[in-house]
Amino acid sequence: MKKKQTVHAPVQKNETITASFEDLTHDGAGVAKVDGYPLFVPYGIPGEKAKIKVIKTKKGYGFGKLVERLEESEERTDPPCPIYYQCGGCQIQHMSYDAQLRYKQKQVQDALSKIGGLKEVEVHPTLGMEDPWRYRNKAQVPIGTRNDGHLKAGFYQKRSHRIIDMEACIIQQKENDDSVQAVKEIADKYNIKAYDEEKHRGTLRHVVTRYAKTTGQLMVIFITNGEELPHKKKLIEDIRQGIPNVASIVQNINTKRTNVIFGDKTRVLWGEEYIYDHIGDVTFAISARSFYQVNPAQTKVLYDKALEYARLRGNETVIDAYCGIGTISLFLAKNAKHVYGVESVPEAVADAKRNARLNKMENVDFAVGEAESVIPWWHQAHGIHPDVFVVDPPRKGCDETLLETMLKMQPQRIVYVSCNPATLARDLKKLEEGGYETKEVQPVDMFPQTTHVECVAKVVLNV
Ligand code: SAH
Repeated sequence: MKKKQTVHAPVQKNETITASFEDLTHDGAGVAKVDGYPLFVPYGIPGEKAKIKVIKTKKGYGFGKLVERLEESEERTDPPCPIYYQCGGCQIQHMSYDAQLRYKQKQVQDALSKIGGLKEVEVHPTLGMEDPWRYRNKAQVPIGTRNDGHLKAGFYQKRSHRIIDMEACIIQQKENDDSVQAVKEIADKYNIKAYDEEKHRGTLRHVVTRYAKTTGQLMVIFITNGEELPHKKKLIEDIRQGIPNVASIVQNINTKRTNVIFGDKTRVLWGEEYIYDHIGDVTFAISARSFYQVNPAQTKVLYDKALEYARLRGNETVIDAYCGIGTISLFLAKNAKHVYGVESVPEAVADAKRNARLNKMENVDFAVGEAESVIPWWHQAHGIHPDVFVVDPPRKGCDETLLETMLKMQPQRIVYVSCNPATLARDLKKLEEGGYETKEVQPVDMFPQTTHVECVAKVVLNV
């Protein structure tokens, strides 16, 4: 048996030390070093000196709590949200927006050089929002019961399931905030009971609202623990009066003991099944459960970059792997000969096809399945040779088989859209080893005030 190594952290639990922050982790915590031993401390900013209480020590690293700031960074700012430190939905409101954008650029640079060995690749400054607030187009709010018996609608306290009542979430579009408040008051007026997750009783689990800024349409979704929703008619009437731009009122039923918000069954209570939104000149139909980017303004910025990197002239064959509801596919289709999209979730593909019809686009095809199985088959059985390959995988990155298939198919250009710099770097390395070169990477801030980093890479075949 291997002898257990004794751990000699230079600090001890509960000890208070003084140290300076040198870096930030990918969850936005400050990194202070004591004799080379890193301590991760939420809300610390590089350049700051602080008193830190050691909370936990492990082999090689530890965790601390910021007790007092002794020197303050110019990048620090007062978080405007009054519930920022309780909520946990945002992680970097205490940093100025410029600092947030630089932090995201550095995350990408560090991942590319440390994980991908790509030290020379140019990572552009992050494209941010002019006004990095009130950008989210979807609110999903848990409902609970206050001590006085009335309904509360809010957020789960950090690392818990306690619901804190909330009046506003300042990264939500105002229409969502206002509608959630209105729905809460109306449901309370008709004495609808909140769901109690411990007892698995009560009716209303979540209120979800989706807002399409370009059309002004709003959708209200009641997520209920069962078929029953008392006083349905009155609820609908009051909502229509209280929220004039409501276009769709929907009930979704979720009877499971689960943290997953949506159940399998959805029914329209009033109005349309869909609301419509535009990104550029493409129209999208959004149903209660459709996946849709939450920051449409920045989505346009991201897709414009993807389009630029794809360098389409009109006669190209394009593959869009991990295509979701076909947002990128349709955005590229107007400039390409043909786009093939593939996506593993059948409902998303149904949405993609509907969106293609809605936009009268005939040069797109969508298939359900795993990209790594469907695309090799397209290649072998149908002889499809893409000029441009677009991928937008989930956090875990591209499947190994898919990367190998890309190398076999030899597209001229690969446009890699990524929400995780670490797996992006890993995959770019494999593409480089297979004869491709990463030309440039553009981070785009899709989620201001949070640590999420999105970027797009331009990769070309070496000749
Ligand atoms: N490009 C889309 C969605 C990207 S999210 C947009 O911008 O809106 C990533 C998508 O990949 C999700 O829709 C997920 O369902 C899908 N997915 C995950 N694993 C997959 C796989 N192995 N093959 C195909 N699609 C997959």
